[in-house]
Amino acid sequence: PLVLGIETSCDETGVALVRGHELLVDAVASSVDEHARFGGIIPEIASRAHLEAMVPTIERALTTAGVTLGDVDAVAVTAGPGLVGPLTIGAAAAKALAIGLDRPLYGVNHVIGHAVVDELVDGPFPERVLALVVSGGHSSLLRIDGTVHVTELGSTLDDAAGEAFDKVGRLLGLPYPGGPHIDRLARTGDPDAIRFPRGLTAPKDQAKHATDFSFSGLKTAVARWVEARQDAGEPVPLEDVAASFAAAVADVLTAKTIAACRREGVSTLVVGGGFSANSQLREMAAERCAAAGIELRIPPIRYCTDNGAMIAALGSAVVRRGMRPSPLDLPVDSSMPLTQVLV
Ligand code: ATP
Ligand code: MG
Ligand code: FE
Repeated sequence: PLVLGIETSCDETGVALVRGHELLVDAVASSVDEHARFGGIIPEIASRAHLEAMVPTIERALTTAGVTLGDVDAVAVTAGPGLVGPLTIGAAAAKALAIGLDRPLYGVNHVIGHAVVDELVDGPFPERVLALVVSGGHSSLLRIDGTVHVTELGSTLDDAAGEAFDKVGRLLGLPYPGGPHIDRLARTGDPDAIRFPRGLTAPKDQAKHATDFSFSGLKTAVARWVEARQDAGEPVPLEDVAASFAAAVADVLTAKTIAACRREGVSTLVVGGGFSANSQLREMAAERCAAAGIELRIPPIRYCTDNGAMIAALGSAVVRRGMRPSPLDLPVDSSMPLTQVLV
């Protein structure tokens, strides 16, 4: 079946077409530039941008793939988690299409989509995988069985990895979003220059929070270190701070995730979400997974940040498994639980 996927949980309007595991087209429009001067996403601006971009992006996707709306067999849309206004625009478009075309509607989970998009790149998931989904809003470790059954093994107790990068970016005076800027600076810095704390990795923590993460203490440590430098009238070595901070985040994420793979006896790790674009994480994960004999699957960067392909991929998976479609009045859920794949 040909599945049309629509993503609008944040500031990207994504529309994609997937047949089975094959991606026909992935069209994205972003309002990120409109938010940059505010230093964060303004939901009202994002909603309006989705409204303007929706029909043109759908048309562009259909034209590029050389199909018509009549060829679409099912419509998938992000039901949550995300910003209510933006989610509502996507859901309204998807409902209109499903009703107008008389096709089933599937309201799916954005965070699970960040993992399942990898099926379009690296092929069907094995029966059981662990998925590390790291983004602007989430840092979660999931066990995924049969692509659509999700168990939460851990998550961040405070900031998400991308959020921590964006906050550190702000304190270093970098433009929003800071994540990619820190990544770039870190490439020429020394990751061993400053030893920043690794949150929740001490053995005494581990008993309580085997796979939970915490990044806010690390962010505070970076702020203190930078302030101390400034107070002493010394220049802040941006590259070294970025590299040492990025190394601390990548270290904690990979160490805990690989330990969880061992504990769960799972030999395939999928990494997804906007923060999986991070080169320090990608490098460390590749090295450590190779050493641990774990197969690592990370999609190319354009499928890590928000896109329609991830929603069409998950839609295709739930259709393939014969799961029941969502009601046509499907509610959006800004805090949709990660264990819920479909509404
Ligand atoms: P969620 O998926 O949890 O709803 P989101 O959709 O806002 O959150 P994504 O678009 O998936 O998040 O990811 C955006 C985040 O990824 C931002 O915090 C951004 O700074 C971060 N990010 C993107 N590229 C990089 C990079 N190369 N290095 C570090 N962080 C990055
Ligand atoms: Mg985004
Ligand atoms: Fe996302």
